[in-house]
Amino acid sequence: MSLTTSEYDSLLREYEQRQLDGEKELRRRKEEVAQAVPAIAEIEERIVDGSLQAARLALAGNTSALDALGRTNEWLINQKRQLLVGAGYPADYLERHYTCPLCKDTGTEIVTNADGSETRRPCTCFRRAIIDRYYMDDGLRQRLARENFTTFDLRFYSPQRVDAATGQTYRAIAETALADAKDYADRFGSEYRNLMISGYSGVGKTFLANCIAGELLSHGYTVLYLSAFRLFEIFEHYRFGDRESSRQASLDFDNILDCDLLIIDDLGTEMSNSYTTSQLFVCLEERDREKKSTLITTNLTMDELSKRYSERIASRLFLFRYIKLFADDIRIQSML
Ligand SMILES: [Zn+2]
Repeated sequence: MSLTTSEYDSLLREYEQRQLDGEKELRRRKEEVAQAVPAIAEIEERIVDGSLQAARLALAGNTSALDALGRTNEWLINQKRQLLVGAGYPADYLERHYTCPLCKDTGTEIVTNADGSETRRPCTCFRRAIIDRYYMDDGLRQRLARENFTTFDLRFYSPQRVDAATGQTYRAIAETALADAKDYADRFGSEYRNLMISGYSGVGKTFLANCIAGELLSHGYTVLYLSAFRLFEIFEHYRFGDRESSRQASLDFDNILDCDLLIIDDLGTEMSNSYTTSQLFVCLEERDREKKSTLITTNLTMDELSKRYSERIASRLFLFRYIKLFADDIRIQSML
């Protein structure tokens, strides 16, 4: 599943509708209050008049009159609140209520830069809605609900079998991996780090990645989960697709670069070529520049990764924090 242009437009229209609904609802409340407490409507008119007058005074540079007007307006706003509460309404009944206060339901966040200029960018709520709607399927939702830090079961990891390279038991290694993954999720947002979870098939790599994904999603981060196969398919469409599919891939690509955490599952299982490999580098490089974290799970060792991908990619991957898991096949064990 991925995002099409018409789906993107339809989400934009939903935001427009949300704004219209919000305005309509506010008008309804104003009319209701004007009927019930006419004095409030009068105060509201005086507040509006005051704001217009303030704009004129500010233009004329009349600061003392402006201060006085400011105090009067504050007093009026207070009066309005008291009257509202007195009549049994919430104090903010005549204010606009937004689903997302950050972007005021426009879907666009305006950020003021250090030099005073403004940058417009899609609000987190908008990015989340896109990912939630167009990249999460039911299967993934169910997996995320099932596979979390409370259900990660260390009993699947043998307390007897030992990894020859480190001399540690599979259980001890898994305990460290679990603690590292929790730590990674806890520090996400305050510390920029990339993570690689490696190990043979069936040792619980994707499970552990899902634990992190679920934790971050619950804290409002945007997490985009893609199998390596799907990611490379998007890279292909970006370049070789017909007009519509490359336009879609371009939207996908924006989300790949933009999400707070990108999870690439099972790197090494995809069909790759020099073009898609170079796109993987662009993706890692760009995310690194923006300090946006990437989490990779893979069956391959670091050695195999450097052989399979370019030197430049390997040098990036070497900087990832590395978690390794060992187990007898967990999926087989859990079936027994
Ligand atoms: Zn928003």
